Amino acid sequence: MPLVLQFGLVHISTGDLLRAEVSTGSEIGNKAKEFMNAGQLVPDEIVTAMVTARLSHEDAKTKGWLLDGYPRSFAQAQSLENLKIRPDVYVVLDVPDEILIDRCVGRRLDPETGKIYHLTNFPPETEEIKARLVPRPDDTEEKVKSRLEIYKQNAKAILSTYANITKKIDGNRPKEMVFADIESLLSQAKREKMKKTTAVKPVHEHKSQSNQASSSQDNWKGIPTRLNNIPHSREIRNYFYDDVLQATQRAVNDGRTRLKVEINIPELNPEMDVYRIGTLMELVRVIALSFADDGKRVKVCVQGSMGEGALAGMPLQLAGTRRILEFMDWGDYGAKGTFVEIGSIGANEVDEQDDMFILVAPQNAVGNCIIDDMKAMTDAAGTRPVILINPRLKDLPGSSGIMQTMGRDKRLEYAASFENCYFFRLLYYAGTQYPIMGALRMTYPYGYELYKRVDVPSGGEKYVILSTFTEKPSSDDINDAFLGKPRNREKKASGFWGFLSSVF
Ligand code: AMP
Repeated sequence: MPLVLQFGLVHISTGDLLRAEVSTGSEIGNKAKEFMNAGQLVPDEIVTAMVTARLSHEDAKTKGWLLDGYPRSFAQAQSLENLKIRPDVYVVLDVPDEILIDRCVGRRLDPETGKIYHLTNFPPETEEIKARLVPRPDDTEEKVKSRLEIYKQNAKAILSTYANITKKIDGNRPKEMVFADIESLLSQAKREKMKKTTAVKPVHEHKSQSNQASSSQDNWKGIPTRLNNIPHSREIRNYFYDDVLQATQRAVNDGRTRLKVEINIPELNPEMDVYRIGTLMELVRVIALSFADDGKRVKVCVQGSMGEGALAGMPLQLAGTRRILEFMDWGDYGAKGTFVEIGSIGANEVDEQDDMFILVAPQNAVGNCIIDDMKAMTDAAGTRPVILINPRLKDLPGSSGIMQTMGRDKRLEYAASFENCYFFRLLYYAGTQYPIMGALRMTYPYGYELYKRVDVPSGGEKYVILSTFTEKPSSDDINDAFLGKPRNREKKASGFWGFLSSVF
């Protein structure tokens, strides 16, 4: 398994990012191309802007990252230092020059799969693949030698910045052995990081003043336990449906019109392979029927489900969703067809008689940005409430593997125009889904509540409140609360292991 998968990291390779820019013919790509083809380094400001943009993405901040091919100059290393972005380990693979030159000169790329071969060390599996392999333009002997010289100078320049975290590994061995060494280095770094962060002060089951928020909520019974057991019991599901419903009703009754529910219990977390569409649909039904009971006409909308927009862009998890909605039991009073309608996402769906809209897990899919359809729809909805259930509106890589940047600010601004009326997420240690470290919960109009999961001596577990926040806390705020540190310390980007695993 690749290291990044094994450790739950984001792989950031400047060479790959640059090649993607070159292949799309972007402005950056056109600038970088000459340097790359000549085997020279691309100017620092181009590469640094690209890397820091990528590092500022939420996934990199929370999961941690593996930087590949960066920093390659003193200035690049300093740029990271200035941003307080520090790796935990700096791995140097030590390989004699002649071996490196041979590895590059014999290297071939499969343009169809992106897989990298070597003519003698790792030959292609079939003649067909062999026939389509291409060398990298900068892999000629002459260019490799020049790259190696530049590399040596730069490696020396970087040495001082990372001297105390540098780990040298003999790279002139079978790749399994090299891999095993890197793996053990990273595991060790991870253990050390965990040790530091789990040295948590004893938890006091305090009732802070700000905790009044939870006690003032109707029927709130505390976070259910055994949340790593999937499928969740009916009781657990009902707890969450009810929790979401109350918060959503409070927000709508307060006249809020652009709302989002983000609930990431394990069976509703799209990053996990147990994503249960049935649970999502039940949640949607509870909310829709409750508003319908109040006499509102609710339209439940699924992306692409009626062929509007690009059907091809429909996210995998939503396949078949509309069918499920159609076949669901919508109560004895025939709410569906009168008070509850099912439709798709887009301006055409907004009818005069609709009172509110529930959008089921709208998300950007590769090659299809849902935001334009949503924007048209919310414009048409005017002051009527639009509630997003588990939206995923972050930028996705385009098919070229890089983020599409055109209109990005507008898209992000639009996505941010929806306020959370409900948020629930389990917190884990980096790269793991077990054990559960705690939970973060917010229900409108109250703040964010941070809970720690503790084992109870008699067996079982419970969640105790650690802290509350008026705004959504960052990973650092959460880490600090778990460590018992005071608030508002200087903000730092997460290091190699964002302590928390994919929090937001
Ligand atoms: P790689 O795939 O890492 O060997 O990178 C291929 C080419 O991309 C290099 O020869 C450089 O021209 C360019 N490049 C990659 N990373 C950097 C960097 N950090 N600084 C400058 N140029 C880079």
